[in-house]
Amino acid sequence: MTESDKSVLVVFSGPSGAGKSSIIQKLNKDYPDRIGFSVSHTTRPPRPGEQNGVEYYFVSEEKFKKMIENSEFIEYANVHGNYYGTSFQAVESVLNRGRLCVLDVDVQGCRSIRRRNMKAIIIFVSPPSLSELESRLRSRQTESEADLRKRLEDAQGEMKTCEEQNLYDLVIVNDYLDRAYKEVKDYLAEYLEKRDQKVLQSL
Ligand code: 5GP
Repeated sequence: MTESDKSVLVVFSGPSGAGKSSIIQKLNKDYPDRIGFSVSHTTRPPRPGEQNGVEYYFVSEEKFKKMIENSEFIEYANVHGNYYGTSFQAVESVLNRGRLCVLDVDVQGCRSIRRRNMKAIIIFVSPPSLSELESRLRSRQTESEADLRKRLEDAQGEMKTCEEQNLYDLVIVNDYLDRAYKEVKDYLAEYLEKRDQKVLQSL
């Protein structure tokens, strides 16, 4: 990846437990100086080990609604019963450091980004099957049974969005993390190479 990574957003979406965070962590590890993660705000309570300002900014519903009123979000949505939103500030702080800005948003967020006509690569990460998704969600033990059921139910709707025209640039099946990650990396490298060539030709 090169210096002209700058203003493209790289958006990951897909059911909870499909492996978006693992792919993002790998990108971060391989390109620590090129990638920056846009830290969203959420009203969901932190899971054990999650830190405010790292995985999310954990805020009250009152604070979140104030931010909506003040038009502080590029997009926001109610996902699995909690609010989540990408603030302009979160994205700008990554872009201002000259990094490729990586986001993790649900399908509603993807649609908002498309509606805003932002320069974005949107990648849908799919689990190999719903039963595999269920066993991944169960083994991470981060949700109550009711939350887990809700996430599985929502996953069925999310999987159907793969067929939505012009929503995703790439759909990958995360059967094996290293293989799925390679697919993402190759896609991004090709996209950026093509874009750099176009920039050079226009000089
Ligand atoms: P989790 O609670 O597992 O961290 O996230 C639940 C869902 O919320 C995930 O599907 C994730 O993609 C989505 N999400 C996280 N941050 C945002 C955001 O800023 N905007 C939107 N629209 N969805 C988000």
